[in-house]
Amino acid sequence: MGEAKTIAIIGGGASGLAAAVAAGEAVRDAEDAARVVVYEASDRVGRSILATGNGRCNFSNARPGEGDYRNAAFVRRVLLEFEGQAHGHVPSQAKTSTAYPNGVLGFFSDHGLMWREEGEGRLYPLANKAASVLDCLRAACAAAGVEERVECEVAAVEPPRAEGGPFTLRLADGRFERADAVIVAVGGSVARGLLPEGVPFREPEPTLGPLATEPRWPRRLDNIRVRGALELWRPGEETPPEERGRHGYPMGTHEGERLASREVGEVMFRKYGVSGIAAFNLSRLAEPGDVLAVDFVPWVRLCDMEAFLNRRRKMLRASLGHDVTWDDMLRGMVLAPVADVLLEAAALDGARPVAKGETVRMAPVLKGLRLPVTGLGDVKQCQVHRGGVSVRAVDDRTCEVRRVPGLYVVGEALDVDAACGGFNLHWAWASGLLAGWSAAERLRA
Ligand SMILES: Cc1cc2nc3c(=O)[nH]c(=O)nc-3n(C[C@H](O)[C@H](O)[C@H](O)COP(=O)(O)OP(=O)(O)OC[C@H]3O[C@@H](n4cnc5c(N)ncnc54)[C@H](O)[C@@H]3O)c2cc1C
Repeated sequence: MGEAKTIAIIGGGASGLAAAVAAGEAVRDAEDAARVVVYEASDRVGRSILATGNGRCNFSNARPGEGDYRNAAFVRRVLLEFEGQAHGHVPSQAKTSTAYPNGVLGFFSDHGLMWREEGEGRLYPLANKAASVLDCLRAACAAAGVEERVECEVAAVEPPRAEGGPFTLRLADGRFERADAVIVAVGGSVARGLLPEGVPFREPEPTLGPLATEPRWPRRLDNIRVRGALELWRPGEETPPEERGRHGYPMGTHEGERLASREVGEVMFRKYGVSGIAAFNLSRLAEPGDVLAVDFVPWVRLCDMEAFLNRRRKMLRASLGHDVTWDDMLRGMVLAPVADVLLEAAALDGARPVAKGETVRMAPVLKGLRLPVTGLGDVKQCQVHRGGVSVRAVDDRTCEVRRVPGLYVVGEALDVDAACGGFNLHWAWASGLLAGWSAAERLRA
């Protein structure tokens, strides 16, 4: 028997652990003489998983293809390939796939994880703790004989000097090691210097986080949450005729601007701007100079808002038995600090009775309190990075770098990111598993 070959996985986060299980199981089942080693910079593997979903880990989505992925065509091809291969590698896959194939669920089911679905297809472990997902992964790694090397940062991956030769891993402490295949799973802040020269790369930048806006209104609403909608408007562009009428447009409030996107969900005001899932998703598109419009009544169309307010005034007049003030109109509809801001934005006096023609001033403010975007809010809260290794460099059937055979890049280290909802982790598991199976196959060839 020859010397055991080594599959090195750099990074023991979501995609790295999935790759380790996939490679470890494939090697074990084929009785190959190969080691699978995870190199993790921090003092334990899986720390990044524990932080996800506020500690609950929204680990996948019931409709995994709907994540609004960056480089969507590439992601679609990888996920298709993954689903095809999952039928061979994941025994319970056939049972868990329904209308939407999801080999990630088959994989986790095989390793004992139970889960439940929340709104918009978000999937969480049944135990409601991210630790439950990590426990299953670590048990699977142990059963597959995966070796963990913690506090072991890899500084650079050097390609083989001759065809068929090993890769050299330069460790941050100056030592070096050899490997026959390498899976780079270091996450979104992947450093250019880690990769061999010539691999196309875009400097990563944080996204999927809170938005900073002109602070006049948000400062007064700090920590208030509303169930509403956020719109992102881009000045200097026109809304094409075919987009007019969508969401009740037009009413003349945003002439000369184009609606770039709209997200319904929780909006949380912060001193610096707006946070919450809707803001996070819009941050993937937003640029300084855009305008964020907060819609406090998303179930009423903009063109129906004035009539809605007139009906409310009539109804309140009948029940209260006196002239209705703007304070009466907004009480019970929004919180008092929100009402104060809306009145100021519409230049109306809350104590005065609602005068003829005033509802037309309040309607667009309720449907779109305008907050000019200045950039990202608290960057530390961003959930992913945009950038990393260009998807053009990578084979969509294996996640292998085309010009460096035996080198794979997975998860967020690739230039792929998605909206909130479990899609980023879904991508990490799926790409990691695909690369793990492919690397084991390559060593066997
Ligand atoms: C607060 C927060 C909450 C999130 N919640 C969700 C959620 O609920 N659902 C969802 O789908 N997505 C969520 N995400 C995004 C998701 O966590 C990532 O997309 C996913 O973890 C990416 O997986 P990865 O394997 O590419 O990177 P990571 O999981 O970040 O793993 C990378 C690993 O590599 C290690 N490493 C880095 N450099 C080196 C090196 N040079 N040598 C050795 N090791 C190295 C790191 O220490 C880390 O352990 C969240 C992100 C954050 C920050």
